[in-house]
Amino acid sequence: MSELLIRHGSDVHGTPLDLAVSGGQVVEHGDGPILDATGLYLLPGLLDLQVNGCAGIDITAEPTRLWEVGTALASHGVTAFVPTVITSSPAARDQALQTLTAGPPVGWLGAVPLGLHFEGPFISPARKGAHPAQWLRTPEVDLVTAWSRSAGVLMVTVAPELPGAIDLVRALTARGIIVSVGHTDASAAQVVEAVKAGARCLTHLGNAMPPLRPRQPGPVGAALGGSGLVAGVIADGHHHDPLFLSAVWRALGPRRFLTVSDTTAALGLADGPVRLGDQEVVVSDGTVRLADGTLAGSAASLTDCLRTLRHTTGCSLADAAATATSTAADLLGDSQRGRLDVGARGDVTLVDADLCVVATVVGGRVVYGRS
Ligand code: ZN
Repeated sequence: MSELLIRHGSDVHGTPLDLAVSGGQVVEHGDGPILDATGLYLLPGLLDLQVNGCAGIDITAEPTRLWEVGTALASHGVTAFVPTVITSSPAARDQALQTLTAGPPVGWLGAVPLGLHFEGPFISPARKGAHPAQWLRTPEVDLVTAWSRSAGVLMVTVAPELPGAIDLVRALTARGIIVSVGHTDASAAQVVEAVKAGARCLTHLGNAMPPLRPRQPGPVGAALGGSGLVAGVIADGHHHDPLFLSAVWRALGPRRFLTVSDTTAALGLADGPVRLGDQEVVVSDGTVRLADGTLAGSAASLTDCLRTLRHTTGCSLADAAATATSTAADLLGDSQRGRLDVGARGDVTLVDADLCVVATVVGGRVVYGRS
């Protein structure tokens, strides 16, 4: 069942590692079927905190297919994820919540959805990116009375400069929700005000926000300059210039640099048109764009992003892996994930030296194995 012995692998530092999983948890010694990991690195199960879809499925357009996205993501090495619903009708958000709380279909295996990320509707019209304008809303606490961590809402992206936004940040934080600043025109001071009200994260640093300027540092300056925010970064090689990515990496370090894929239905598909929410987008040469050229999420997997991060910055495998394991788990307050210590969940991503996924283990079960 969930007994497994992973033998002859290496940890993120290259040190030989055998791992036993029993009852879904990493244990000191165990018994059970053996998975030979010769030549492979054993990473703590990868966590992707921004996923719009995968394998032709867009979560905002088809929220009832959320569990299928989890299954498809496991083949990309992800063991848990945060399904993202972009700015949309309230009905789409409700349907996603119902699908999540109803639980998986019988016999389901895959990357576990940890709770939803509502990216909008309380975002700046000036920085909406690919989000549809018709569903944008001004922050009002009355509009989110049903939102809480226990109800399945894990993260919410908010533009803190909007009227009523700081009260909203306070209300959401009080209900255990991680508030992320994003799709915003805020000044650095407004971001810091949001941090004081409870915001802890920045949504896709550098994208859908003003640039860093000497006397107007904006959200980027707030994140890099010591506000304490963890910054989500879409390290797909298309959302930033390589020098920008390197500069951000040096400023943040692996404990505040959160690699996210922001991947979409395009992941795993060939170039061509794809649905994102209620819009058509075009996949071409690794990018996803609206007809006007606006980037609309990525076509990259999380391991693609970690590979890009390593190649761009020259960082170690251990540091790259931390950005999608321990850093993510710390933001979530999840001590069971993001590590392979005894007592942690038996979630393991097995990769080769080039970060290609060979097997994915969730709770001690092999949910994906490259033959
Ligand atoms: Zn976005």
